[in-house]
Amino acid sequence: MENNKVLELISEAKKIANSNFCCKHSNFTVGASLLGKSGKIYNGFNIENDGIQSICAERTAFAKALTEGEKEFVCIAVVGKNLNDVNFSKTLPCGYCRQFLSEYTSSDFKVYTYDDKEQKLYTYTLEELLPNSFRL
Ligand SMILES: [Zn+2]
Repeated sequence: MENNKVLELISEAKKIANSNFCCKHSNFTVGASLLGKSGKIYNGFNIENDGIQSICAERTAFAKALTEGEKEFVCIAVVGKNLNDVNFSKTLPCGYCRQFLSEYTSSDFKVYTYDDKEQKLYTYTLEELLPNSFRL
C-alpha cells in the first residue's frame, strides 16, 4: 500500500472521529477508514449506547461496506482520542473487532494507526494482532 493512500485513510479516519456525536459514555472518539478492493472508502465512528452493545468504529465501517455489497478489503486505518484532546493517539481494534476483522479479511489485510504526538504511523497484520484466531 502506497504511503499517500494510507495517509489519506488516516485523514479520513480523523475527520469522521471529529464528527462523532455518539461517544457519550467513554468520551473517547474513534474513527475508522476502511478501503475496499473496489477502491471505495467506508468511514465509521464508535456508536455508544446505554446498554453494553456499543458498536466500535471498525465494525461500523465494515457494516457500511458489507451492506453496500463490498466483499473484499485491503486495509483499515484507525485513530482515537479523548474528545478534549487535539491529538490522536495510537488506537488499535479491540478483541471483538480483531475476531470480526479476521473473518471478513484475507491474510494480507493491514491495520494502520497513527500517533500525532510521535508523528508515527504504525502498521500491523491481523496475524500480529490476533495470532491463531478462532475459525469454524
Ligand atoms: Zn472494537
